[in-house]
Amino acid sequence: MLRYLINLVRSKSFHYLQNDIKLCRIDNNLRCTSRYFRTTAIHNDLKENAFLYEQLCDIVSVDNVSKAEAVREQYGRDESHFSPVLADFVVWPLNTDHVSRISRLCYDSNVAITLFGTGTGLEGGVNALKGGVCLATNKMNQIIEVNVEDFDCTVEAGVTWRELNQYLSDTGLFFPIDPGASASLGGMSATNASGTNAVRYGTMKENVLNMEVVLPTGEVIKTAGINSRCRKSAAGLNLTELFVGSEGILGTVTQLTLRLYPIPESTCLCVCPFEDNASAIHTVVLLLQNGIPLSRIEYVDSQSIHASNQYSKGDLLVKPSLFMEIAGNQTVVESIAELVKEIVLDNGALDFKHSSIMEERSRLWKARHDLYYACRNFDTRPNTRALITDVCVPISKLPEIILIMRNYLDKYNIKGSSFGHVGDGNFHSVITYDPNDSVETGNVLMISEMIAEEAIRLGGTCTGEHGIGRGKIKFLQKEHDAFSLEVMKKIKQTMDPKNLFNPGKVLIIP
Ligand SMILES: Cc1cc2nc3c(=O)[nH]c(=O)nc-3n(C[C@H](O)[C@H](O)[C@H](O)COP(=O)(O)OP(=O)(O)OC[C@H]3O[C@@H](n4cnc5c(N)ncnc54)[C@H](O)[C@@H]3O)c2cc1C
Repeated sequence: MLRYLINLVRSKSFHYLQNDIKLCRIDNNLRCTSRYFRTTAIHNDLKENAFLYEQLCDIVSVDNVSKAEAVREQYGRDESHFSPVLADFVVWPLNTDHVSRISRLCYDSNVAITLFGTGTGLEGGVNALKGGVCLATNKMNQIIEVNVEDFDCTVEAGVTWRELNQYLSDTGLFFPIDPGASASLGGMSATNASGTNAVRYGTMKENVLNMEVVLPTGEVIKTAGINSRCRKSAAGLNLTELFVGSEGILGTVTQLTLRLYPIPESTCLCVCPFEDNASAIHTVVLLLQNGIPLSRIEYVDSQSIHASNQYSKGDLLVKPSLFMEIAGNQTVVESIAELVKEIVLDNGALDFKHSSIMEERSRLWKARHDLYYACRNFDTRPNTRALITDVCVPISKLPEIILIMRNYLDKYNIKGSSFGHVGDGNFHSVITYDPNDSVETGNVLMISEMIAEEAIRLGGTCTGEHGIGRGKIKFLQKEHDAFSLEVMKKIKQTMDPKNLFNPGKVLIIP
């Protein structure tokens, strides 16, 4: 029967009309249609497919579709060490209905979709590994509503966290999740991003109240109830947490309802250099174990301080340092600052500087947010690349894993700097290397694998906030048992039966 059908297809050269979409697919020299060969194969000859281009233009208008190589390259890369992988078209929907129609069109035509927020991801999540359509949400950037009295807001997925905070500036409220780059809130929910404030305010998971999501088949759902913006709910399965962290493999986040917080009355930044890494990290553990209410605790090693001084024109003492922030009522902030001073000086801090002056704090936090670029640029050899690790461990294991990383870097003579949101047990190493040097490249990849395995061994994870993307798929398999992985695959197959959304990321789908 199958042979008969193949012969029939070969001889007749099918054209197929489905949902007003007429598409002709050329696959392995076999002209066929999705109806007869329901397959997860992705278009491999889209450039020829002028008809798909026309359909996309019909949905979003010609101004919002591009096939220019430079544009496709810009949208096929993020800030990771992975080379760009280009989609065949970049499409900018302007609203949820556009996303729904694009999803349905691609579903019916077996075309892959890779979502793009602002491309600041660090795991190659936006690489279009199977070509197809790059769906970029950066023109969906409306702030829909802000409910000051309820401390929440609803935004489109393309709004960045910085734009949101700028918009909120005269309301006395703010959104606390602050990854170093100006990322979109849709992308941040997709990677379950966090930042320097997570030790006090949590990650995206704790701060998304509801989401509008377009499924790969085009249906639109609300994850926490049609109209809900409440703080808690026991109604049904938690679809919000299913989509937060799903890295674009289950559908497109189009809108988010988010928690907001009052801007604290007073904020004090403390900077404390230590003689060695171990004393700095042990002090963090001590501060946390004593329940000192800090809103930010960042560790920066001496290599990173050196790079930062150079990049941000700073003059910090080149020693492993802690950047901590205390926020709240002024009297409380002052008394906590005194307590912190006592603890850090008792535990080997070389100095304790603190400031409540807004400009001074902003300057230092900007330098902290720029650390990735500072460390990346610190290696002045031409054409080097930077790989960034993202392990997270239980707090008590932090001193051990940071030391393990330093030993790996020294043993293999690799340039690397470590820093991170240690209040959550999460730290990064930016490791630079010459991709044309196969020995160095091999050692860097080996170190990033070894540190992920060490983190898992210590009860942690291979990724605290950047996601699995392309590079960490095998660690996901080490971190989870076979049955849990099977559940994840079943969810993926239910939502995206043709494996069209962000194929090649997070899960291995045969
Ligand atoms: C200098 C620097 C500092 C950083 N600091 C931090 C940090 O402190 N904490 C942190 O967590 N991360 C950090 N990051 C990483 C990055 O900013 C985050 O991963 C961020 O969440 C990515 O958002 P984006 O909009 O750029 O997403 P993109 O990079 O565009 O996409 C990321 C992933 O999400 C998917 N996606 C994008 N939009 C949607 C959508 N609407 N619906 C569904 N899926 C979607 C994409 O397909 C991709 O898989 C940093 C990056 C840089 C360059």
